[in-house]
Amino acid sequence: MKEKEIMALANENIMNTYRRFPVVLTRGNGAKVWDINGREYLDFVAGIAVCNLGHSHPQVIAAVKEQLEKLTHVSNLYYTEPQTQLAKLLTDNSFADKVFFCNSGAEANEAAIKLSRKYAHENMGPDKFELITMKDSFHGRTMATITATGQEKFQFGFTPLLDGFTYVPYNNLEALESAISHRTCGVMLEPIQGEGGVKIPDENYLAGVREICNRYGILMIVDEVQTGIGRTGKLFAYEYSGIEPDIMTLAKALANGFPIGAMLATDKVAKAFIPGNHASTFGGNPLAGVAAGAVIKTVLREGILDNCLKIGDYFLSQLKKLQQKHAIIEEVRGKGLMLAAKLNIEAADIVNECLQKGLLINSTGGNILRFVPPLIITADDVDRAIKVLDEVMEVK
Ligand SMILES: *Cc1c(COP(=O)(O)O)cnc(C)c1O
Repeated sequence: MKEKEIMALANENIMNTYRRFPVVLTRGNGAKVWDINGREYLDFVAGIAVCNLGHSHPQVIAAVKEQLEKLTHVSNLYYTEPQTQLAKLLTDNSFADKVFFCNSGAEANEAAIKLSRKYAHENMGPDKFELITMKDSFHGRTMATITATGQEKFQFGFTPLLDGFTYVPYNNLEALESAISHRTCGVMLEPIQGEGGVKIPDENYLAGVREICNRYGILMIVDEVQTGIGRTGKLFAYEYSGIEPDIMTLAKALANGFPIGAMLATDKVAKAFIPGNHASTFGGNPLAGVAAGAVIKTVLREGILDNCLKIGDYFLSQLKKLQQKHAIIEEVRGKGLMLAAKLNIEAADIVNECLQKGLLINSTGGNILRFVPPLIITADDVDRAIKVLDEVMEVK
């Protein structure tokens, strides 16, 4: 099919839930993607923090190809080795003792909400069911997860929402503590707010949340759907804080583009789920299992985290230089390769012009440019991106 034909047919047949750029992408390799006309783009979106190892990663391809010819899917009524090995990799390399597999970030958070309610029901009594979440958070698009998401724009038109959620400002421990009531069973938050505009809390914030949760005997749930799998320079962003949560959710980069989600918990909390409480037909099937297994092994073994930290620092320093040159940049911030530039103009224009110059970036919250490139990028890739940004901002 031709480019124009694909766009027209897509608009005719696919529901209008995405504002799409007029580009048809056909191929990817490393940090590059190509459109249907053979035009090359430097991809600093990476499927929104999904393709952390870059496109067409050889180990992921090999693992999926081999498994595809052996066994693609069986029900979770049976044991499979790929899911088992993946669970072991995740528990060996995190605070968690047990994993539940699903297919997306929203589903992982949905599972976390259900597990925290079930745990509270059994261990704290039936009146404790309320979760405190953060303003400007993002936890997904199902009914429970838009309720957990502290942004009205995602909830508008979909009321009534779920009972049992309250919201407090992010990075504010006093506000959190004063929102705790006799109904509270847990707190759910992102270690860095992604969709909320790459908001990085104070260094001691997560430890403060943990301390409050301990004092009130409530659960701490971290949503690492975006920050997880090396994005910030550690396998999981909570590791920076020196504390351990009770529950963690993962998805996005877990299988580098193959759909999978996971909800991890300590044994103590995980015990609240018994057969029949929760399930997912596709969750952690053999294909997703080997893809994610290959990802975790590669991230841990092959200098990916070091590269993320090294190039992340370099990228941030180059963004700071750009800020000195262009008054439209109000602030730059980031951790590892999760970076942002806050502008005093609409970010959408910059994003569009970067696309025309062969650089894919993304914006959140109206005036924030977000950079979540593959963790395998080089200083050269950063230089190319900075050059495009510089040119685009020159004429603003
Ligand atoms: C993307 C995201 C989600 C939702 O993930 P889906 O796979 O789109 O359902 C949830 N939480 C965070 C922090 C995210 O960034």
